[in-house]
Amino acid sequence: MIGKLAGHHDTIVALATAPGIGAIAVIRLSGEQAIGITNQLFTGKDLREVAGHTLHFGMLTHPQTRKAIDEVVVSVFHNPRSYTGEEVIEISCHGSPYIQQQIIDACILCGARMAKPGEFTQRAFLNGKLDLTQAESVADLIASNTAASHQTAMQQMRGGFSRELKALREQLIRFSALIELELDFSQEDVEFADRTQFYDLVSSSTVTVQHLIDSFSMGNVIKNGVNTAIIGKPNAGKSTLLNTLLNENRAIVSDIAGTTRDTIEEILNIKGILFRLIDTAGIRESVDAIESIGVQKSLEKMREAGLVIYLFDVNEYTADDILAQQRMFEAEKINYLLVGNKTDLSSGVTQKFATIPGILFISARNHDHIEQLKDALVEKVMSGSINAEDTVITNARHYAALQEVMRSLLDVRNGMDNKLPGDLLALDLRRCLHFISEITGDITNEDRLDYIFSKFCIGK
Ligand code: GDP
Repeated sequence: MIGKLAGHHDTIVALATAPGIGAIAVIRLSGEQAIGITNQLFTGKDLREVAGHTLHFGMLTHPQTRKAIDEVVVSVFHNPRSYTGEEVIEISCHGSPYIQQQIIDACILCGARMAKPGEFTQRAFLNGKLDLTQAESVADLIASNTAASHQTAMQQMRGGFSRELKALREQLIRFSALIELELDFSQEDVEFADRTQFYDLVSSSTVTVQHLIDSFSMGNVIKNGVNTAIIGKPNAGKSTLLNTLLNENRAIVSDIAGTTRDTIEEILNIKGILFRLIDTAGIRESVDAIESIGVQKSLEKMREAGLVIYLFDVNEYTADDILAQQRMFEAEKINYLLVGNKTDLSSGVTQKFATIPGILFISARNHDHIEQLKDALVEKVMSGSINAEDTVITNARHYAALQEVMRSLLDVRNGMDNKLPGDLLALDLRRCLHFISEITGDITNEDRLDYIFSKFCIGK
């Protein structure tokens, strides 16, 4: 397969660490000439003689000026035991951009060429070191900006997602082969593929695939954040809470009821999960026109939100009021958290609301129990359908392909229910296998690869 791609014989070079100044930088070369090229620049020992997975200290010299560039440590990895599966050299040098540039120039003068974005990972994929979902996870890993999204990317790289799909693919291929075999014997009316077993497999596969499809929304949560609406009557302390959480004063806080008319969106990073906070106008029967737009917006936002923080003044409400509110959330299937505010103004609050478990009591103004609130927010997201250990789909391309897999599995099952002949089942099955392979990369084309790998940065 690698033979089809242009430029694959070249030895490529790029900076593997982030550009700019650092304590050290790493320059990576991959390809047949990686060791030969480095050896021309290196004084210390003959790198062509050394074993793989070894480190060598020495001096790099510029091939034209013959001036010393830097003292470096060279790591040697022999084909196929390297990231790309090719001969790989990693040069650790001092982190100045000037030195980095000099070393890359020197490598290019000796025959390397600059790597394209994602080319190292592309070679790893083409040499069977990674499958396509794993390769894409590398891109996600590079781009991941929170601890939780880093964890999902790691999980995918370890092959959780592709393992499930590969197992499914193998089973389906087996049945597909048996059904196609039947077609060769169509005159004789034989059945090689056990229909009951096959039907069970298709049914259980729909469950697995649906689970993967459902996890997409969780994947999105981790990557893009949970839409969180802070809801409550005017003066409940929503703006104050927002500001306390954000530790800055963006929303207008005032004693005048109903000043927060616009929805304000802020993002909070709690333990690696992003919460997109939307401060909305309070829920209540409204009197003026502008405010009623605000209330309408609140209800819409509440339905859109993944999580609603219902904030109330503990001094104003009775337990019965909150119970009624809770019933409304349950009826509307809203994911909510009850938060009683202004505990600094009264005592005995926990007794007052003792009949309702799960209320968090805070003082937004005095920053009391804000840490507990943050923990509860994370807990809300992580509980229920959402489990960080689960395989989570975060990639829109996978999502679309999985939906096609689902559709064709259902077609196969319907076909069997309606006693469709084997050749028609075989068609749906092939379509299903096609979309599974689109994800695992077992069949693919150059355009698609170029598209996927172009999302990488150079040096990866
Ligand atoms: P919003 O209308 O829900 O956004 O409420 P605000 O955040 O504007 O707060 C209304 C009033 O309640 C302001 O005067 C705040 O200072 C006050 N407030 C907010 N939180 C607390 C709290 O925890 N304790 C006390 N005592 N006052 C608070």
